[in-house]
Amino acid sequence: MIQGKGTAVFAGIAIGKAFLFSHSAGELPVFCGDVQKELQAFDSARETARQQLQLLFEKTKQELGEEQAMILDVQCMMLDDLDYIEAVQQQIQQGRSAAAAADAVGTVFSQQFADMDDDYMRARSVDVRDMAKRLTAILSGTNAELEITEPVVLLADDLSPSETVQLPKDNILAFVTCQGSTNSHTAILARMMSIPSLVQAQIPLNSTVQGKTIIVDGFEGCYYLDPDPDTLAKMQEKQKTAQQKQQLLEQYRGKPTISKSGKKVKLFANIGSPDDVAYVLKGDAEGVGLMRSEFLYLGREDFPTEQELFEAYRSVVEQLDGKELVIRTLDIGADKKVDYFGLEPEENPALGYRGIRICLKQPEIFRPQMRAIYRASAYGPVSAMFPMIASVQEVLAVKEFCKTIREELTAEAIPFGEVALGVMIETPAAAVISRELAKEVDFFSVGTNDLTQYTLAVDRQNEKLAEFCDTHHPAVLALLKMIVENAHAEGIWAGICGELGADTTLTEEFLKMGYDELSMSPAKVLEVRRIICESEE
Ligand code: PEP
Ligand code: MG
Repeated sequence: MIQGKGTAVFAGIAIGKAFLFSHSAGELPVFCGDVQKELQAFDSARETARQQLQLLFEKTKQELGEEQAMILDVQCMMLDDLDYIEAVQQQIQQGRSAAAAADAVGTVFSQQFADMDDDYMRARSVDVRDMAKRLTAILSGTNAELEITEPVVLLADDLSPSETVQLPKDNILAFVTCQGSTNSHTAILARMMSIPSLVQAQIPLNSTVQGKTIIVDGFEGCYYLDPDPDTLAKMQEKQKTAQQKQQLLEQYRGKPTISKSGKKVKLFANIGSPDDVAYVLKGDAEGVGLMRSEFLYLGREDFPTEQELFEAYRSVVEQLDGKELVIRTLDIGADKKVDYFGLEPEENPALGYRGIRICLKQPEIFRPQMRAIYRASAYGPVSAMFPMIASVQEVLAVKEFCKTIREELTAEAIPFGEVALGVMIETPAAAVISRELAKEVDFFSVGTNDLTQYTLAVDRQNEKLAEFCDTHHPAVLALLKMIVENAHAEGIWAGICGELGADTTLTEEFLKMGYDELSMSPAKVLEVRRIICESEE
């Protein structure tokens, strides 16, 4: 038995046969001796790749939504990149086969992207490599599609976006990859599919593992390859218990979230894009408590227009069909950098130009968002909330801005509804002055990820500090208590939308404090509902 660790991206137990994913197509064909033939082969391979990508685009759109499918669109565009085409043609003219040239230039270009400063461009390195691999496979006459005919645990060094989307998902019990991060495409897919998976796993990837039994423990972040009978029996038991627990939760589907003493809590979900609403509904969340607008700004070359923002928000409202939606205005800055914002590098980005600070200083960025939010409110219940608030003055400025937007829309005869305005409590300053803030807004939503970071002075991005990031620190809990008390004293509701909202060891404590809403990853909703419904609080 080999036992190893990894970073878990979804809790659960999977037991199955290991399937070693292999990207490479073996030996590449050598130069055929005729430059024209190789050039033609390259052109026709680009055409075949385009057709494959279009089919894949449609399949992905149906299975995972348009946003995931757009990744393939980027690759389609790269097939027409003149720099790439000319570099390949040049190598062919120097006597290389089309396959070898497509592969070699792909490697060079992919490295150039990987070396760029901009996060978005760096991430495109994978797309370039993926596109070149597809061309190479076509030119080598190998089949890029993967044949998996039985349920397996898929092992890979890493999976590119297009490899991930074309996997036969019904037959994948878990992913284990040596690379990748908790935000990699594989991790996102694993969470969507609710399958236990590990990234950054220390696992030998050679032919001896193929077909061996492997256990993935997504609770503990570890795997057992070729387990001994004792371990296998223990893990089968653990799997059974987890499945029974999940099954038991089904009785809470569709039920109201009310504690035994009659306290009603809104159990909402956090999302980043319109495509995520499918998971909100599948998870039985009662609404959306945090739509992170900045995701509409990431992965683009330029600002989204007001119309694009409006269409994204309206799509969420319409899919929610009457359920509440809380839209958080964009929180770009700190870890979420976008080139076209032209933000200067900062010594302390988490304490820098981010969130509401950008919106207040750059109304040309704030205006289209607020207009889009108000316009979407004509289609269903919408609230807006603002990140990184630290003073009453900021709230007054935001309210004044919203008033101007309402006046503009009224003058233009554009319909809009009532939009409740709330603030995120993410800074210790906001927590301390929450009684004053509560007089100015309709609700609070506590961003415990940032509130913890700022209260404990622990950078939430720095993995080395994980042991110092005590999310249950008495200072954080005291602030949480104070925030909800101040909210209620001024007659407004308070919720939690940071990761702590899904921490089931604190659910009873939050009930006791009086929280009215908890917003979390959709997969956690039924579990938290069970605790609330069983609580005496
Ligand atoms: C938070 O800070 O807790 C929060 C919900 O916002 P984000 O994680 O997007 O910073
Ligand atoms: Mg935050």
